[in-house]
Amino acid sequence: MPEGHTIHRLARQLDETLAGRLVHADSPQGRFAEGAQLLDGATFERADAWGKYLFCDLGVGEVLHVHLGLIGKFRRREFPPVEPTGAVRLRLVGEDSTWDLSGPTRCELVDPGEQERIVARLGPDPLRRDARPERARERLARTERPIAATLLDQSIVAGIGNVYRAELLFLCGIHPARPSSAITDVEFEELWAQTVRLLRIGERSGRITTTDPDEIGRPRHRMRREDRLYVYHREHCRRCGSDLRTDRIGGRPITHCPTCQPRRRVRSRR
Ligand SMILES: [Zn+2]
Repeated sequence: MPEGHTIHRLARQLDETLAGRLVHADSPQGRFAEGAQLLDGATFERADAWGKYLFCDLGVGEVLHVHLGLIGKFRRREFPPVEPTGAVRLRLVGEDSTWDLSGPTRCELVDPGEQERIVARLGPDPLRRDARPERARERLARTERPIAATLLDQSIVAGIGNVYRAELLFLCGIHPARPSSAITDVEFEELWAQTVRLLRIGERSGRITTTDPDEIGRPRHRMRREDRLYVYHREHCRRCGSDLRTDRIGGRPITHCPTCQPRRRVRSRR
């Protein structure tokens, strides 16, 4: 599943290659034929990401809204364009770039009011400069749900997926089953700062790397696949060697270290 960093990177690359240019749009697969017709010949104005949601404004009144979901891809292709491979829902061709969207959960035109409603349902996005982390803080303080579940809830924080949540909780030493309301202000501040830092690294490089280059002994761009993460899909803790545990929280498996992420005792009342 693409996490927030993928969508922000995509928005940036769409802007770099299409903004200010006239685009030809069509739906080779046919399922977005009407929408593509409306976009065809328009000038691409800007792409914007909020969490895992992408919005492209082509100045036609309605905005292109894309959600990639689990298997969707929006990829840069050969230019000049050649016959598309697979089921391409939407193809955008600029002056020197071709972009193919396939397998999205959502690909639709929405009016600005609907765009506002979609964004209003989302929590703050750590990759946005206008993010207001205090909104996430307030929501967490009000729920007993495990922190590993609330971190996946896009209405609380927008952009974190299954890989980042496991890595973030490990880095902050927080047990995934801890009630969200028991997260302290200091812990929240660290959690938010780490989220911003790691998503930015992911946005720049196009892949999820959470490990510290000093700890691994090589720079990020030279890390091997197995160097990049602390706990996700791993068996032993990189730091203490403990056997990692995997529990199902928030409907998805999460791996954690019982030593580095202790279950904190609830203080007994005197
Ligand atoms: Zn450990």
